[in-house]
Amino acid sequence: MALQMVSENQEKPLKDNVLEFIESGEAESLSALEILTWGIENFGNRIALSCSFGAPEGLILLDMMHRIDPASRVFVLDTGRLPQATFDLIDRVRDHYDKPVEVIFPDAERVQTMVRDDGLNLFYDSVEKRQLCCRVRKVEPLNRYLSELDAWVTGLRRDQGSTRKGTAKIEIDRAHGGIAKLNPVADWSHSQVLDYVLDNQISVNRLHTAGYPSVGCDPCSRAIGPDDDPRAGRWWWENPDTRECGIHTEEKGSGI
Ligand code: SF4
Repeated sequence: MALQMVSENQEKPLKDNVLEFIESGEAESLSALEILTWGIENFGNRIALSCSFGAPEGLILLDMMHRIDPASRVFVLDTGRLPQATFDLIDRVRDHYDKPVEVIFPDAERVQTMVRDDGLNLFYDSVEKRQLCCRVRKVEPLNRYLSELDAWVTGLRRDQGSTRKGTAKIEIDRAHGGIAKLNPVADWSHSQVLDYVLDNQISVNRLHTAGYPSVGCDPCSRAIGPDDDPRAGRWWWENPDTRECGIHTEEKGSGI
C-alpha cells in the first residue's frame, strides 16, 4: 500500500477501530508482545521501531518484532556525534538478524549553519543551544521520517525519570500528526529488561559495561555511579527536568 504523505502539521486520522482501541485504554493490560503484534497487524509496513542502539530496551523490542515479522522495520537517528561503539552495534545487529537498519541523517545544510553560528560544542553553552542541536540533529530528521508512517514504537519506560512517568502503552502522538505511538515496555522494570537480554542473548552496546546505562551522542553521555539515576549520565550538566532531546516531548494532553 502506498505510504500516505501528509504535511508536518496535518492531523493524520487513524482508522476508527484503531482509535477506539487506543482511547479505551485496553492496551494497559496487554503484554509487550501482544502490543507489538497488534501494531504489526494493524499498520504493516507503516510502523517502525525507533532504536537508539544505546539502550537495551530498543534491542529487545527489535528482537520481539523480528520474531513476529522478519520484515518489521527499525530505524536509528545518526546525529553525526554517536560513539563508535554504537555504529559497531548497528552493523552487528544488522548482520545477526540479516535485517536492514534504516539510518536517518540530519539535513546537512541545517547542521552547517548551526555549527557556523554557534560552534561544534554549542550544547555546553546553554539549555537553549543544547535543545537547538537536538532539534537539528534528532527532532527534525525524526519528524521527516515519521511523516511517512502511521505508527512508531519506542522503548520508553515509566521509571526512567521524571519526564517519563506518565507514559501510556499506546498513545496518539499529536506532536507527529496524530499517528500511533507504541511504548510496549512502559511498565517494565530495568531488571525485567536485563532478564530478557540475558535469556535471549541480545547484543547490547559495549559501553554499558563501562558504566553507561544509556548511550547517546558521545559529547552528551558519560558513565555514572551505581546509585545514580539511570539517566544521570545524559546532559549531566542540566537540571533533570530538561533532560529530554525533544523526540518524546509532546503537547499536553496528547497521551491516553
Ligand atoms: S545529544 Fe548532544 S550532540 Fe546529540 S543532538 Fe543532542 S545536543 Fe547534539
